[in-house]
Amino acid sequence: MSQYTYIDIPFNFRHTCWFCGEPAAKAFDLPRNPKNIHFLAHAPMSIPACDECAAVRVASDVSSIWAVRDYVKRSLMDKYSDHLAIGQNWTEQELQESEFSGALLGGFGESAWKMYEIARDRLSYQGWKVAIDSIPVEGEDETYGFEFDGVRYMSLNTCIDHLIKSLRLDKELLPSLVDLLGPEKIDYAVKIAKLNKAIIGYQRDKILDEVRQQLEDQQEIERQARFAGDYSRIEEVLVGDGIATTESIQWALKNEITTLPVLCQQEDAFFDAFAHLGGPQCYLNYYGLQLYFEARQNPQWVLDNDPNAEWFVG
Ligand SMILES: [Zn+2]
Repeated sequence: MSQYTYIDIPFNFRHTCWFCGEPAAKAFDLPRNPKNIHFLAHAPMSIPACDECAAVRVASDVSSIWAVRDYVKRSLMDKYSDHLAIGQNWTEQELQESEFSGALLGGFGESAWKMYEIARDRLSYQGWKVAIDSIPVEGEDETYGFEFDGVRYMSLNTCIDHLIKSLRLDKELLPSLVDLLGPEKIDYAVKIAKLNKAIIGYQRDKILDEVRQQLEDQQEIERQARFAGDYSRIEEVLVGDGIATTESIQWALKNEITTLPVLCQQEDAFFDAFAHLGGPQCYLNYYGLQLYFEARQNPQWVLDNDPNAEWFVG
């Protein structure tokens, strides 16, 4: 029997646990003890729940249904951490292809993947919009939780703690990797951490240094790629009786030539690079580029006439 008014239950969620999506036979009364009603940010309510979720202990000063959900999910995560670890340690295919005995899988046997999926889905289950008598209950944190590998955790930290525990990872490596790489690359961080479970201090530092180096290299490659891509949008420019062609402007920028004096120093290099055009054409190209760079010395001209101004910044 429930103590309070039930939250609204959409037709297709009849008999569904709001917390985990399993069949619901009980109610979670919020608050359990009516004398704690004053801690709540919303009206007291009864929430359909399965046996397990209905029995989860929460702090007496819990302030909302969503805070209760955090308690429930944390409890499920602790209880089923072995099941969740199955999916984090193996893929479904690996499990099917291998001949893991029951002993290796700690007695899970062939149903191992199924057990992982059930635990994952219960943990990730989001419930439905909370309302009482058709009036929505406000206060849900839309940014709730952190998802990794199909499992929704209460937070990034909860996720990291769980992975360290269930995969028996080095306690410091994974958090440091996530700091470096960012939460969006946590799968990569976990891969590295799984390969380096038993390490000592200096090895950890070495791994982190390598990752740091990789990141810097990656950023440099991206920077260069960005520049290469930009040059394709360079436009030719008519200046006086000359034309600075797209190719010649691209050549200048790629060689970090952005001013007239530097161009004059690099005149021979230009003629080498454009020799294939033949003497007269080569000269006309250089002449056009020269006029362009000369015109660029006037900031007002750049503002009014230069379609490529942005590539010369910095
Ligand atoms: Zn439940």
